[in-house]
Amino acid sequence: MAIGKYLADNLGGARFSGLQLNDLATLLCGIKSVVFTSINSAEENRRVDSLCAELKLKKALLAHRRNVTNTRIIDILIGTNPKKIIDARRAYANVASPEWGLALGYPECCVRAYLDWRFNHNSGDLIGYIHQRTAGGKLLPFWMNNTVNYFSRLFTPEERKDNLAFLKLNPGQDRESIITWHPCSYLCAETMKKGKTLYEFMRKYMPDTISRRKAMLSKPVIFWDKFLFAVLNGNCRRKNRRFVVDYNGISRPKSLISAKTERALASFPRLSIGENGKITVPRSIPLPKGYIFLPFSAAF
Ligand SMILES: [Zn+2]
Repeated sequence: MAIGKYLADNLGGARFSGLQLNDLATLLCGIKSVVFTSINSAEENRRVDSLCAELKLKKALLAHRRNVTNTRIIDILIGTNPKKIIDARRAYANVASPEWGLALGYPECCVRAYLDWRFNHNSGDLIGYIHQRTAGGKLLPFWMNNTVNYFSRLFTPEERKDNLAFLKLNPGQDRESIITWHPCSYLCAETMKKGKTLYEFMRKYMPDTISRRKAMLSKPVIFWDKFLFAVLNGNCRRKNRRFVVDYNGISRPKSLISAKTERALASFPRLSIGENGKITVPRSIPLPKGYIFLPFSAAF
């Protein structure tokens, strides 16, 4: 079966750099009909052509440019619906427009929220903005976790530098999310539904990869900024209108937080956190101010 050649555990040579597995899966499970990606060589172009032929997808070439790591790439669209590819090709002229996100098939609420953050609220990271729009007091489905999805979140030279430091700290690790876009809220109804469909679909074709990814994405996170966060190596549950996290140190992926912060968190086996996201037990844990708590969980 052709899908199994491109979505499987141990893919080896069949992967190419620009196209994430979850992006490809959105087309194959039908929750999106166009995907924006890129190729960086003639060899990759040949691979995309065989992939499109075998999976009955269409391809359209866009512009040549350099990406965040300064590599020469060609932007491309691949998709199942020729008319939507034409719409997306037209919208590509302004990738900061709602038309672009809508042509790519992202939920409208999420497209509008992303642009609102980008142009009106970008003094803080997008994760904080999404968290602010999320009703408190609820566990969050692991497939909504976009903490380490840095697409469309890196703009300044400092952020690119931090991104390289982050990649060095977490070499070779699969850090793909499940959802391929940034939700308008961690409880966005449309993204929760589409994300679940995507998760189930990928699990069928690549159970080992998805089980590892689920383990990574379902851990609760204390988050300060783009590259300053701590993934708690344990589980979060609700108890008496609080969150209780039982954990054993900090898990991967590692961020650029200080060794002192990491030690402070690693020296406790349990945190109790109020619905306002503040840690109440232990009360005097010496953490930098301004964190938010993201109660991602596998219990969905
Ligand atoms: Zn939404």
